[in-house]
Amino acid sequence: MNSFQKKGTSFSVLEKELKSVMERDRIWENGKTFGFVYHPGNEIAQITSMYYNAYMYNSNLNPFISPSLRKYEKEIIGMTAAMVHGNSKVTGTVTTGGTESIFSALKVARDYSREVKKASAPFEVILPDTVHPAFLKACHILCLNPVTVPVRKDKRADPEAMEKAITANTILLTCSAPCFPYGVVDPVQDISEIARNKGLLCHVDACMGGYMLPFLEDLGFKIPIFDFRIPGVTSISMDAHKYGYAPKGVSVILYRDHELRMKQFFIYTDWCGGIYGSTTFQGTREGGPMAACRAIMCHLGREGYRKLAKEVMETTLKIKAGITRTGVLNIISDPEMSVLAFTSDTINIYALGDALKVRGWNLDRLQFPKALHMTVNRLNVGKEDAFIKDITELASSEKLSIKHPVQSELTSKLADKLTNLIPEGVIKNTARLTGSILSDNKLENGGMASLYNLSASIKNRKSLKKMVLNMIDGMY
Ligand SMILES: *Cc1c(COP(=O)(O)O)cnc(C)c1O
Repeated sequence: MNSFQKKGTSFSVLEKELKSVMERDRIWENGKTFGFVYHPGNEIAQITSMYYNAYMYNSNLNPFISPSLRKYEKEIIGMTAAMVHGNSKVTGTVTTGGTESIFSALKVARDYSREVKKASAPFEVILPDTVHPAFLKACHILCLNPVTVPVRKDKRADPEAMEKAITANTILLTCSAPCFPYGVVDPVQDISEIARNKGLLCHVDACMGGYMLPFLEDLGFKIPIFDFRIPGVTSISMDAHKYGYAPKGVSVILYRDHELRMKQFFIYTDWCGGIYGSTTFQGTREGGPMAACRAIMCHLGREGYRKLAKEVMETTLKIKAGITRTGVLNIISDPEMSVLAFTSDTINIYALGDALKVRGWNLDRLQFPKALHMTVNRLNVGKEDAFIKDITELASSEKLSIKHPVQSELTSKLADKLTNLIPEGVIKNTARLTGSILSDNKLENGGMASLYNLSASIKNRKSLKKMVLNMIDGMY
């Protein structure tokens, strides 16, 4: 029911409410969540809060209104380009997140191909099937045809298969450093070389690795080159709000030169409201996240990022060793940094995820194959021993063996059959109800296994899509 109160709520009531809701929402502070939140630690976070608050009401749309924000943006781009060995021609913009950075790179590829290379629609973008869904979302919005190509056995993009997928309509090859699901870095060198030989653009999605891999390389870890040192790489996306430890709402999209970047801008000169120019997808742009991002990048410097990367990587290596030591869990491929996934032939992996959740640990779920996923970050440092102890105990538990199919697996097998039998309206309403139950957090223990088993085993992907659509609508 929609309603809006007549009298306002007092400062003190809202202050109290904030304290109580945050207790639950800041559960990640205990360091038992792997992913989503990238926090540099309370001491360092003071610098982000100070700048964030100072610029909360500023707008970065008109460059003449808040000149310091324009300066900060240039500094963020300069520092970020330096991390990935961009020469003085490399430039970019600050965006709101990885999704917008990827959207921008695809828009630039489309407009550059159309205007400079005189290519015509339908435009095709070649994507390894491990790329982030943001690429598919951008293709959808920009009316581009996504051409997904299966990755190799080691879960890295397959340059040969990508080359074979090139047609006269191809405008862009893409790859990840690393991909989100398995944390492995694609063979950027080979893929970008193919693009260069064919006169195509090549985008590297370093949303996850951009603020981590350069420092791991400094520390002596074996990291394949993925950046502007490779001549065929024409754009790179990097999320400052992940391992850059900026607050949420900051990513950077870098281009090899200004000619490419200008294809991102939008100018309208005929409006009665004045000449309108905008550099990103947004109109009014927030000042807080950008100011805070620039502050933390200056505050940490190369040494600060290196120190954080070292701590995170040491924790990751311990966790990887602990997982392997269980003897029943297998890490997928050989991830280069702090993102990894693991499966099992003998234990019920989603049930393990739920059992870990009961002990307070939050891991992501993957499908095809069913796996658990971890993004290790600064908050997890120091929690590795407790995590390894718990996962070792659970991995040897007879209850989680695949010999005993869990209730949720049976339910999902049944559900798959039912989706073909039950009238659509019933499925729709059930999905909406599930969504609203989920949003009340009533399905916490044991719930995710049911949901993910359901998703991974339903063969009718179209009806699953509809169910998820209704579920989300129910949640909101
Ligand atoms: C997080 C991520 C994205 C999307 O970024 P958002 O900030 O969530 O929009 C894209 N690619 C990769 C590899 C990511 O890890």
